Amino acid sequence: MTLALPPLPYDYDALEPFISAATMKLHHDVHHRGYLDRVEALVRGSALEGQSLEALIRRSSGNPELRSLYNSAAQAWNHAFFWRSLRPAGSAGAPPQEIAGRIAADFGGQQQCLDAFRSIALAHFGSGWTWLLERDGRLCIEATANADSPLGRGGVPLLVVDVWEHAYYLDYQSRRGEYLTAVLGHLLDWDFAQRNLRERSDEVHA
Ligand code: MN
Repeated sequence: MTLALPPLPYDYDALEPFISAATMKLHHDVHHRGYLDRVEALVRGSALEGQSLEALIRRSSGNPELRSLYNSAAQAWNHAFFWRSLRPAGSAGAPPQEIAGRIAADFGGQQQCLDAFRSIALAHFGSGWTWLLERDGRLCIEATANADSPLGRGGVPLLVVDVWEHAYYLDYQSRRGEYLTAVLGHLLDWDFAQRNLRERSDEVHA
């Protein structure tokens, strides 16, 4: 089953008090599952059936006739990546040495990186995602609109934060800034970012 809903990598209440169990249940069990269900319905019986999410995203990206498939597949992939970008409250540590050095070189320091992340996420109009990426050998922060994912555009995603309103409305109503302060300050999994950076480096040097 290539399109099975991946379980959360922690308990529903692991992100409290920053993100509630109620938000996580709705977000994972309803929103994330819903995107996968739509992908399955769209590919059933077609030549695309059985392909991985990554393959479906690359196949449908930029194709107006496959826009619905792209939106649902990208949303499913983005959500799985988002869960892994976070870790239980109280367990988050500082970035490992290698990525900390890259952050210092490209942003001037950890705080500047987080400030840039927050201001780009806060300024993004409407639904979307904010990413820490490696692009052309540099780390950068970029926002994507709606379902858009950096997959297939040459950037390597390291971390993502969901800025769709469904990610924070139950806990923060429309106060996206408070949600971002909580997530960026307490929940980012820098070990995950480091692993993504290293896997990419292995690929490049292979
Ligand atoms: Mn979401």
